[in-house]
Formats: sequence, C-alpha cells, structure tokens
Amino acid sequence: MSLDADIVPASRGRSFKMKAGQFALVTNTHGNQVVDAWALADSDHFETSSLDHTRSMNSNIFFTEGMALMSSRRRPMLTMVADSAKVRHDTLLCPCNRELYQQLGCEEYHRSCTDNFHEALSGVGIEMPFTPASLNLFMNVPVTADGTVDRVPPDTAAGDYVVMRAEMDLILVLSACPQDITPINGAARTPRDVAVNILDTYPSEVSA
Ligand SMILES: [Zn+2]
Repeated sequence: MSLDADIVPASRGRSFKMKAGQFALVTNTHGNQVVDAWALADSDHFETSSLDHTRSMNSNIFFTEGMALMSSRRRPMLTMVADSAKVRHDTLLCPCNRELYQQLGCEEYHRSCTDNFHEALSGVGIEMPFTPASLNLFMNVPVTADGTVDRVPPDTAAGDYVVMRAEMDLILVLSACPQDITPINGAARTPRDVAVNILDTYPSEVSA
C-alpha cells in the first residue's frame, strides 16, 4: 500500500476518530494477523458495537463484505464495503484477556486484546467500565453444523485488506491480537503489526 498509513504495532491497540462517511482501510500487512475491532459512538461512548445485534441484524454468525457492524442501540456503525480476501470474519469468540493467558499457562503478565482496548481508550481520556465483544477481523473460526467452533490461522495473504465506512461519528479501536500460544495468528505464532488509513474518500488505490 503506497498510502502513508498509521501502524497498530504487534500486540498493541490503538484508537482512531472517524466522522460519518469516512473510510477505514485496515491492511493485514503480513497476512497472518487477527485484528480485534470495536466502535464507540462519539455522541455516547456507552453506545458500543454489539455483536449480538450485528448477528441478529445480518441474520448470520459471520461478518462478511457488505454487512454492517451494529450498535447496542441497533444502529449501523461501520459497513464493510470491501474485503480483498472475501473471508468470514469471526463474531463469536471473546477478545483475549489476561485470565485466558493464565489458563494457557502464562505465569507472567501477557498482553491481551481486552487490555489493549482499555489502554487505547485511556490514551484519549475514555475509561470504559466493561469490555464489549469484539469483531474479530481476519479471525478464522469455522463452525460446523453441530455448532462446534474451530480456531485456525487466518485465510489471508500479506497485503489483504478490508475497507469499512463509518455510518456515524465514532471512535474505532483496533487491537493487533497478542495471541502467540495458539496458531490463531498464523502457524508461526508471531503477532505482527497492521496498517490503518482513515480516509475521507474511498481509497482509489484498492479495488472494491
Ligand atoms: Zn486477542
């Protein structure tokens, strides 16, 4: 991507202000990285993205191109207008947290998407007393007919991207998931950075 991009460093989180009509271009620079995503309405930070409402509105348990991420007040927040890899992004699994890493055997502190969410918001003066469910961009969680879920590496290549259009003024929070114990961020179990552009117009450098 030739556009100057902001970087969400590996295992870290970052927040972005978006005005209605702006586009977020999220590029999976290395192809392997899951990106946990949340949105908070600018008008009321307690109106957050809600995966419950998203699944209900889209009548689907996955998130794919053309779908809208809904708020806890059932309003569209972000529409995924392009997805170069045309994958099924996960809506089911929780953002990782420190307890999950303890259960995986980590004896010392391990960064997590939950802590990244709060840290990113804290950096812009917002304290949230809870952690909404995350939209797990690029996260590959196949679901079988009996309801069993699997967790496998992303089905994306270096440079794959999604473009999401803000449907209201909002704060977008992204976390380059720090998971390095399971292969959810690729077989190498190595979190990598991702690139983000917030743009006023649809990025002409990428195809719809
Ligand atoms: Zn995570």
